[in-house]
Amino acid sequence: MKKICCPVCNSSHVNLVEKNSVDWIAFLYQLFLQIDVAPYFKDIGTLSLYRCGDCRLGFFSPHVSAQQELYQQLQKKDWYYPAIKEEYHYAAGYIEAGAKVLDIGCGPGYFKSYLEDAYYQGLDYSHSGKEILSEDVHEHIDRHPSYYDALVLFQFVEHLEQPKDFLARALSGLKKGGRLIVGVPYEDSYLQDFPLFPLNIPPHHLSLWNEEALKRLGEELSLTLISLHQPNLEIWEKPLFWLIFFLKKMGVLKKKRRLLLGFCTPIAYILSLLATKCNWPVPVQKGATMIAVYQLDR
Ligand SMILES: [Zn+2]
Repeated sequence: MKKICCPVCNSSHVNLVEKNSVDWIAFLYQLFLQIDVAPYFKDIGTLSLYRCGDCRLGFFSPHVSAQQELYQQLQKKDWYYPAIKEEYHYAAGYIEAGAKVLDIGCGPGYFKSYLEDAYYQGLDYSHSGKEILSEDVHEHIDRHPSYYDALVLFQFVEHLEQPKDFLARALSGLKKGGRLIVGVPYEDSYLQDFPLFPLNIPPHHLSLWNEEALKRLGEELSLTLISLHQPNLEIWEKPLFWLIFFLKKMGVLKKKRRLLLGFCTPIAYILSLLATKCNWPVPVQKGATMIAVYQLDR
């Protein structure tokens, strides 16, 4: 049997947190996103969540990764690529005017508008545009060694099977003194109330991130961590926050019963829209993102 190791620190000191049937995972995707992911799981019966005992990264096994079709379905939802994000604003503060910036998994390239006078290059298979290439990241970087002042990856590394290995290779595109900026869904945010929220589990996301894992990622890559920052709850996050809030209040998330969750979710959804529309005061200040800024000093 293949040994399970952490995809950030390579530790074999990993603990099984829970096993879920793939039927349950597929049910959650259908209920919350109206997307059929069952074909992704046709060869496996259960999906296990592990926690690294050394860096606390959470990761799922076996690996099941999304194909373009899933992204195309998600991109039809107007909330999938918000144009305004504190994450972008914060990252831009670490990029100097005139810098060369590579935005890996750039989506529609919204980050560019936050940059002052920078040379911007986006890479994304799902998008095209004047400054966006549909090109393999490593092939692009192999042709641009030590070229960029900043590599930015917003909500990208959690989609990767081997995030550290991917970034280790990508760093060859960064100049000495350049910055690597990584934004991830932050599991110690309000997301912790719904650990199996379907956007944050396979086949969409393969790992669960926290501060310890981000710090360890920098150490593994021999980078200096300059900053960790959790942006405030964004306006577009409020419906999600309230949905999880009401489901938690109803006590239905841990029970894993289809009929109960299927009955309560539409009610929680209506309440979440009402709370958002009426601008009810949100009981948390921070959102579900953590951003890490690293520097390449070697
Ligand atoms: Zn680890």
